[in-house]
Amino acid sequence: MTTTFRKAAFLVAGTVLSGMIVPILAAQAHEEIAQQAIGENDGWAAGTDGGSKADPSNIYTVSNRNELLDALQAGGNLPKIIKVEGTINLSVDDNNNELTQKDYADPAYDFEAYKKAYAPAVWNVRLTDKKRPERDLTGPQEEARQRSADNQKKRIVIQVTSNTTIIGLGNDAKILKGNLFIGNGTENVIIRNITFEDAFDYFPAWDPGDSWSLNKNYPGCDEIYVDADTGPQKCPGGRWNSEYDSISINGGKRVWLDHNTFTDGERPDKLFPPVFPFPHNQVEQKVQHHDGQVDITNGADLVTLSYNHFQNHDKTSLIGGSDSLTSDEGKLNVTFRGNWFENAGQRMPRVRYGKVHSYNNYFTGDASGAPDANLSVLENHERGISQSKDIPIFRSAFGIGKGSAIYSENNFFEIRNGNIGNAGNIQGGTRFFDSGSLVNGEAADFATVLNADPKKPISPDVGWKPALYGKRPIPAKDVPDYVRANAGAGKL
Ligand code: CA
Ligand code: CA
Repeated sequence: MTTTFRKAAFLVAGTVLSGMIVPILAAQAHEEIAQQAIGENDGWAAGTDGGSKADPSNIYTVSNRNELLDALQAGGNLPKIIKVEGTINLSVDDNNNELTQKDYADPAYDFEAYKKAYAPAVWNVRLTDKKRPERDLTGPQEEARQRSADNQKKRIVIQVTSNTTIIGLGNDAKILKGNLFIGNGTENVIIRNITFEDAFDYFPAWDPGDSWSLNKNYPGCDEIYVDADTGPQKCPGGRWNSEYDSISINGGKRVWLDHNTFTDGERPDKLFPPVFPFPHNQVEQKVQHHDGQVDITNGADLVTLSYNHFQNHDKTSLIGGSDSLTSDEGKLNVTFRGNWFENAGQRMPRVRYGKVHSYNNYFTGDASGAPDANLSVLENHERGISQSKDIPIFRSAFGIGKGSAIYSENNFFEIRNGNIGNAGNIQGGTRFFDSGSLVNGEAADFATVLNADPKKPISPDVGWKPALYGKRPIPAKDVPDYVRANAGAGKL
């Protein structure tokens, strides 16, 4: 540990200043950062101290997957600090050689054969008695995809243990191509100063029923199969779905994520366009290989995200995975402050059930191509295709879902070719509060825009008022400079 530690200390101090005093001071400063607990009252995760009380024997420096796994398991649930040095690729074998699709693929799996077997022209013809495509794909290609996906999952999903701080050394720590999983029973976790990149799913699944609708505005869309030009295969919908988040808080509690960067890196979704013909070539129907950046689900609770930088990614943060999961009621309480959502598509976050406090966050992106309520679905479809571009379309920041209670304060939205309609979107919820936010330089009048549809009224009474402020909110107009200066890995 001493060697790597010294190296990091010199990096922090800079090489211009030689001599022993400076590196030792930098080392002490670094050690103090590694031992920090969350600030007092800093949002829902207040009280989280991770591994800050670790014995010296439970402080590890790791630089590959095996060392990370060993450190997580060696300390068990004892307080431990795990320092990440350099880049850790999680999609590797035990000798740290990268594993890719060909290594995980089952011999029977073939993407071309998969596409043929489940193409809408074949599979959407099988409608259930609820007049929707059968969503549970069956047959040898789906079975082979499952086996392939299981092979990948065993390598790249890493279970985090309780009472742990994982912190990047210096300004270039990275975790690539994998998923940190904070599951049910895991508590008290801190993750700081790390760039998470490209949690890539090599075996995404086609879900023919996702967002599918019998929609007469689409030419040829009919519940009865008539011929190749008319029938359910011509109805819109179906989505590719992918499995891995960079960080999944899936049942875990008391988690502080601070000063991390999340990005798809060199494999953005734009490289994987839709593969089925009209109407299954909407911009949403890319062969998606990424899921969330940070998803918080299945009874997870007491989470604070501060100064993280979410970049160029579609589904950023899902809080609550299903309307029907009523056991999430009273949980999923999350604070977002000082984060930057840059060129994100949606879910910043999308919330079910949780009491979510969002303040002083910065949202930037481009909404051109996003659906326009004044256009028909077909017109929106054509518009989306014609305007599809390199970064995700900024569709909606807050997703106001079932049972959610979002309390937003002094956020700053900079949405090119968009407006307040892209800042918040009703997705089954009935409550939303904002004060002091700005959208493209103007006071955010959420009350009016969210109540445009009298059938879906939104109340500003969310039933709670945040009390845990790690930092008092600054005015929204000061948020861009403040967040640009502070958010992301390498800025601790
Ligand atoms: Ca998914
Ligand atoms: Ca997810």
